[in-house]
Amino acid sequence: MHERTLAIIKPDAVSSRHSGEILRRIEESELRLIAVKMITLSGDDAGGFYAVHKERPFFRELVNFMSSGPIVVCVLEGENSILRWRGLMGPTNSEDAPKGTIRGDLGIDIERNAVHGSDAPGTAKLEIDYFFNATEICAPVEALP
Ligand code: ATP
Ligand code: MG
Repeated sequence: MHERTLAIIKPDAVSSRHSGEILRRIEESELRLIAVKMITLSGDDAGGFYAVHKERPFFRELVNFMSSGPIVVCVLEGENSILRWRGLMGPTNSEDAPKGTIRGDLGIDIERNAVHGSDAPGTAKLEIDYFFNATEICAPVEALP
């Protein structure tokens, strides 16, 4: 399915100066980058974004982490972009994630795991709308000859 997904380069990866490496992996994949911006979330912004996890024991820590420094939010488009991006990310816990995945290569632990990706078409749309308005999302640019 041709679809969009939201990707986030989390505060650990931005502060470790891995943003460029992560964007490079996106650009070398089949995914097309159609929106990108660096922002810093307030605690309320981060809590709203991760509201589905508000009953989880790690919620407060997660909100503190996600609002601890700048993040890079991106919209990716392509065939099966949701699963494709989650494949590039690797499993949630960076300590278990295989080498070759972003979380395996660049993440630290289960919380500071470098990147976020939407998990389904419905959540992708909600998450994209949480950060971007329509004028901030570009039509995919064809590859240069
Ligand atoms: P994301 O939604 O960020 O792409 P995910 O879908 O792989 O990650 P979720 O279960 O949605 O994993 O968890 C959201 C985020 O919460 C994780 O990426 C991680 O930063 C944090 N997290 C998840 N489990 C734990 C935990 N047990 N302890 C601390 N933080 C956790
Ligand atoms: Mg998730």
